[in-house]
Amino acid sequence: MDFAYSPKVQELRERVTAFMETHVYPAEAVFERQVAEGDRWQPTAIMEELKAKAKAEGLWNLFLPESELGAGLSNTEYAPLAEIMGSSLIGPEPFNCAAPDTGNMEVLVRYGSEAQKQQWLVPLLSGEIRSAFAMTEPGVASSDATNMEASAVRQGDEWLINGRKWWTSGACDPRCKVMIFMGLTDPDAPRHQQHSMILVPMDAPGVKVLRPLPVFGYDDAPHGHAEVLFDNVRVPYENVLLGEGRGFEIAQGRLGPGRIHHCMRSIGMAERALKLMCERAIGRSAFGKPLARLGGNIDHIADSRMEINMARLLTLNAAYMMDTVGNKIAASEIAQIKVVAPNVALRVIDRAIQIHGGAGVSNDFPLAYWYAMQRTLRLADGPDEVHRAAVGKFEIGKYMSREAMKASR
Ligand SMILES: Cc1cc2nc3c(=O)[nH]c(=O)nc-3n(C[C@H](O)[C@H](O)[C@H](O)COP(=O)(O)OP(=O)(O)OC[C@H]3O[C@@H](n4cnc5c(N)ncnc54)[C@H](O)[C@@H]3O)c2cc1C
Repeated sequence: MDFAYSPKVQELRERVTAFMETHVYPAEAVFERQVAEGDRWQPTAIMEELKAKAKAEGLWNLFLPESELGAGLSNTEYAPLAEIMGSSLIGPEPFNCAAPDTGNMEVLVRYGSEAQKQQWLVPLLSGEIRSAFAMTEPGVASSDATNMEASAVRQGDEWLINGRKWWTSGACDPRCKVMIFMGLTDPDAPRHQQHSMILVPMDAPGVKVLRPLPVFGYDDAPHGHAEVLFDNVRVPYENVLLGEGRGFEIAQGRLGPGRIHHCMRSIGMAERALKLMCERAIGRSAFGKPLARLGGNIDHIADSRMEINMARLLTLNAAYMMDTVGNKIAASEIAQIKVVAPNVALRVIDRAIQIHGGAGVSNDFPLAYWYAMQRTLRLADGPDEVHRAAVGKFEIGKYMSREAMKASR
């Protein structure tokens, strides 16, 4: 494994870091203020300014491996950039590298028809619109995607869509113009061919955003996480992606790179929390000593450094495997990082909160909000337990035949 930065990646790292320091970190307070003023569910002027600046500097769509559309970077090359962007909750969007648009754009690049690309990919790539991914449902255990019940029934040259989704991230934002809806299209087909992904415009009659769901009280405006009702929604048949019954095929392709991005962003946030922890530990004293010299605080700092480094290397290893042997063979490594990175970030942020005392849980520091957002990543894109089960199964599979494994269930 070679994780050395190529000259191209090193140059991009320097430019992305400079952009974050010059424009993004100073804009965090402005963004918060603009969200708090007036309607929280309107896009902020500062974000549009940041996007224009990053685009003008050519720091745009860096996540896309296709060189004609993005920067042409491999997963291993993009990962360190995702880490730098992830050090701020508003960091990825200025570069048009924010979830869920990144995953949705990848889906459209890989599986979209020419017409679908023209209608949705082009404005997404230019940052004119945003998108959402509507899979999870309140009525069923959605960590098992085969449970999805919201239906899409073919009627002539249309789909008739009915059902209720929730945690549809981004659907509260007025810039969100399209959702990738995952629904049941053939209950009689084999288990992994029952569902399809269908493009549903937000303004299709019958689409109703019912409410934003807060996370520990944070509404994450103007992005938000929506409960959405699909009430006799009709869209053209050709809005299906890839083909009827091929939803799981797309899901497999979509999740690998998305997980690397999420994990590296978590590591970026952990790294910034460690910085805050160190600054507080040396800048504040109690009982006649800097906090760093009291109790086990220095150990907390050391543990955080070691855990961050381990998580980063594990994630880069997964990225390297995806680049060299593909998503399927790298499945265990991808599952491993999805458990490790958010848990490490949470532990580091928790220690940073502790050393800040009461300030740590206040809104004067970003730690409480970061904690809330990282906590969701132990659920979003599949809960820890599902990924642990995949890793465990892979390990046991080395010593047991497929048949013996099936028989032992
Ligand atoms: C902030 C946030 C943003 C999200 N964004 C999106 C989005 O944009 N689009 C979208 O479609 N969804 C999104 N989700 C939803 C997320 O992907 C689901 O919450 C997740 O997949 C779990 O589904 P569930 O909530 O139905 O939990 P359930 O399936 O009901 O599972 C509940 C719990 O059961 C346990 N469990 C489940 N399976 C196993 C297992 N195999 N072994 C052991 N224990 C198990 C776990 O502890 C799990 O947490 C988001 C969620 C959050 C919190």
